[in-house]
Amino acid sequence: MTNNREGPARVRFAPSPTGHLHLGGLRTALFDWLWARKTNGQFILRIEDTDRRRFDPDSLESLKKGLRWLGLDWDEGPDIGGPFAPYVQSERRKIYQEKAQELVERGRAYRCYCTAERLATMREEQRRAGKGTGYDRRCRALSDDERRRYEAEGKPSVIRFAVPLEGVTVFNDLLRGDIEVENRQLQDEVLLKADGLPTYHLAAMVDDNLMEITHVLRGEEWLATAPIHKLIVDAFGWDMPVLVHLPVILDPSGKGKMSKRKKMVAGKEFLALVHEFQDSGYLPDAMFNFLTNVGWNFDPDQEVFSREEAIERFSLDEINPSAAALPYEKLDWLNGLYLRALTPSALKSALLPFLSQQLGLSETELKSDRRLDVLIPVVQERIKRLDEAVSWIDWAFLKSDEISYSDPKLLIGRKLDARQSVEMLRAAANVLQGVEPFCAEAIHAAFRERAEALGVKAGSFFGPVRGAISGKKVSPPLFESIEAVGREETLQRIGLAVAFLEEHSALEGG
Ligand code: GLU
Repeated sequence: MTNNREGPARVRFAPSPTGHLHLGGLRTALFDWLWARKTNGQFILRIEDTDRRRFDPDSLESLKKGLRWLGLDWDEGPDIGGPFAPYVQSERRKIYQEKAQELVERGRAYRCYCTAERLATMREEQRRAGKGTGYDRRCRALSDDERRRYEAEGKPSVIRFAVPLEGVTVFNDLLRGDIEVENRQLQDEVLLKADGLPTYHLAAMVDDNLMEITHVLRGEEWLATAPIHKLIVDAFGWDMPVLVHLPVILDPSGKGKMSKRKKMVAGKEFLALVHEFQDSGYLPDAMFNFLTNVGWNFDPDQEVFSREEAIERFSLDEINPSAAALPYEKLDWLNGLYLRALTPSALKSALLPFLSQQLGLSETELKSDRRLDVLIPVVQERIKRLDEAVSWIDWAFLKSDEISYSDPKLLIGRKLDARQSVEMLRAAANVLQGVEPFCAEAIHAAFRERAEALGVKAGSFFGPVRGAISGKKVSPPLFESIEAVGREETLQRIGLAVAFLEEHSALEGG
């Protein structure tokens, strides 16, 4: 391989399907994608599923869904294949077995027959003696005869890498420069397990080479294993790809590494899993914009930018290696901005799944529902996440017999008592029977006129009607709300409210 820094890059995102995709993983994938697109190269999705104990079959779909949601389309990978298929490591086990064997033959790796019990005893002794734990390399020194005997006995074995016992290993990280490690600090890591499957160390190095990966972007937690990786790559006689260890993502507080603890984002608890943000109605464009600036900065003077602009400007050299905090307030702010920039019909499409789930109506039914056409534009100004739209809209879909007024105060106008409020409701009903056309503007004008004629403040007149139609303290602007539910339904709700208030004041009076 040549010096890879110029020309189209081949960059892989190599998740292990062991759980849901985390924002940190999504950020790695995003930087991979940006670099591939920037250099007109390829973004490759490779599934590292060789740890069968931690394998979670559901996580694969959730992973792909998360990437697609953010718009990170892969050029090669599962489902679509590519010149180096398969892209799922469990389907490539023969390749790793051959490669591990190759290292054994070159004297750079060896079979180890130590049993789990022996390793446990060894570790216990090391601990008791106050020594660091690690494989004591017993099988590295086996004679050929011993090996032949163990093989003849059919003893299970693993293949371990034979780390040079002396000297230093130097590797380069694009952000941190050359890093030097003494070989005696390194372990003879397992390359191939007894079940014939490779460890990450072997599989990732083999695949990065066979798939002609030029740049490896991965979490900083892998920095400690980079010397072993360099040694493995050297042992095969390959070139190292450019290594970029991405900064750790911190809690929004900037203090601890993001843990499994929940954090509050816009009044909601999150584990920072990608699907939680999807399910709450963050827009992919807002998330894209947000994550691009975690560990890299588009421009201190420009917070909002498009995908194309990000691709154009992105540069690996400018990634900041220090830990980056997640400023969730900025995500909310960005999301609000992107939400308001949607056309009403785009917002409607984005809202359909949320509304459908909460209102128990099909998306097709909702699509042609005119109530939404009236309410969505007024709700648009008021939400930061799509899921918040539900409580602004759900009242309009209640059937008359589902409306219940829990508190008479909701129906009482400012500076009015129950009896006066009933009068206002009756007057409003009277206005609504005649107003033409039945639209927000005309209703508004007619209400004002009637309030004036009655000598009451507009607010006192409107209040009871607001409570009557929504049953809520906070609801979208009154006249659009009335227009949305329509004349007949509004009159019905006003009738119910009158009955409720009358009953209530009778009880009070009695
Ligand atoms: N399979 C590893 C993980 O999920 C990938 C690390 C890498 O990108 O090399 O963390």
